Amino acid sequence: MQWETVIGLEVHTQLATQSKIFSGASTAYGAEPNTQACNVDLGFPGVLPVLNQQAVSMALKFGLAVGAEIGRRSVFARKNYFYPDLPKGYQISQFELPIIGKGSITIELADGEQKVIGITRAHLEEDAGKSLHEDFHGMSGIDLNRAGTPLLEIVSEPDMRSIKEAVAYARKIHQLVVYLGICDGNMQEGSFRVDANLSIRPKGQEAFGTRTELKNINSFRFLERALKFELERQIDLVESGGKVVQETRLYDADRDETRSMRSKEEANDYRYFPDPDLLPVEVEEELLEAIRAELPELPDAKRQRFEQEYGLSDQDADGLTASRPLADYFEAVAATGAEPKMAANWVTMELAGALNKAGLGIEASPVSPQQLGGLLARIADGTISGKIAKQVFEAIWNGEGDADAIIEAKGLKQITDTAAIESIIDEIIGGNPKQVEQFRAGKEKLLGFFVGQVMKVTQGKANPGQVNELLRKKLAP
Ligand code: ADP
Ligand code: MG
Repeated sequence: MQWETVIGLEVHTQLATQSKIFSGASTAYGAEPNTQACNVDLGFPGVLPVLNQQAVSMALKFGLAVGAEIGRRSVFARKNYFYPDLPKGYQISQFELPIIGKGSITIELADGEQKVIGITRAHLEEDAGKSLHEDFHGMSGIDLNRAGTPLLEIVSEPDMRSIKEAVAYARKIHQLVVYLGICDGNMQEGSFRVDANLSIRPKGQEAFGTRTELKNINSFRFLERALKFELERQIDLVESGGKVVQETRLYDADRDETRSMRSKEEANDYRYFPDPDLLPVEVEEELLEAIRAELPELPDAKRQRFEQEYGLSDQDADGLTASRPLADYFEAVAATGAEPKMAANWVTMELAGALNKAGLGIEASPVSPQQLGGLLARIADGTISGKIAKQVFEAIWNGEGDADAIIEAKGLKQITDTAAIESIIDEIIGGNPKQVEQFRAGKEKLLGFFVGQVMKVTQGKANPGQVNELLRKKLAP
């Protein structure tokens, strides 16, 4: 039997507001447990939630960026369930009337193909606290710092047909919310978490199969592994005569498996009802226009512009627009007059490699875009070769100054004086009669040996083009 995979994702993004969605407590990560939970977050009797307007604006930003229907009137609802990390006994969420309705996002697949994935809705809600099972001598503790952190839950249509598509979608949403500045995207800290729903059906069948929901996924690698495990589990189960039951499963990264957590609850199990403490949210045209005007250039538009304006390949444009700071860095290098393709190469290879090795982000690059531009100018005008440039780059990285100063101080100027190169070549030819004989007898490979000798004597500073040309002339039989 040929099986088709069907996947839909629910992404929880923590919104990058200073304070919580219904209280003034700080959302900063990493504080001592229970130092950032006020009476509202703790659900004390008599307290009242007050909606954070920033959270609403951020949700609207996302909605506009994915071309979604905006819920001009949305309503907060109570989702009732009992859990130790939820002291109120209910989570404030949105149910029937979410702030963001239907939209879509386009993903790129490895073969360059594009696919539109539907977004069903995105709603505002509050995060719950966290149970801490470690460091408590076998006991569990509750940290309510996270309680009340604003979340935008982005629900996709079951439009993905492979694990690759699901990962590409999750990455695309991640890139977008970080671009928009509405989420810091830090997956280790739980700012971006994915619940994945997966089902299988015989190829050609229209009706969807029964899905399971996988929770606890906080990296793209785990998403891929959890889906892979679950896909195989479902196929094995069905092929051996079993039936998939709708349930929530937990992905255990240590054991690389999914385990049943609980049978899936239905919406009516939650006894949703409008929260009487909060007014409906009415979004006025003016606010929407103001937010629209503030939208940054989005990743897709930026990528296309990079291809057109700078003549970059799809791959380069894609890599350079992966994040806004990286794209900004590249544009600053290009603005120095550097040839774009060359600038792209240096940013994505040399610089990215060095940053990666040092564990630094582009914002912390020790080499400024102006300094890199200055270096590229000296390659372009022939002052130094590409090889020497790597040496100069390292010196700039180490804080030794700008390219010109380093080239001067270290005497790295390229030797382009033909007479000088010729006399070095003559000496080398004189000193290696055996190799000369072999070369003249047809052992062409030896040209590399001679080039190497010249470079050794000149410490790599001889112009490679000239060296090649002069060597061929002088070595000709
Ligand atoms: P719930 O609120 O109970 O989690 P939803 O209807 O909101 O259920 O769907 C949650 C997610 O499950 C959505 O992302 C949706 O695309 C996905 N989904 C729904 N049906 C299927 C299916 N048969 N196979 C895979 N994913 C599905
Ligand atoms: Mg759900």
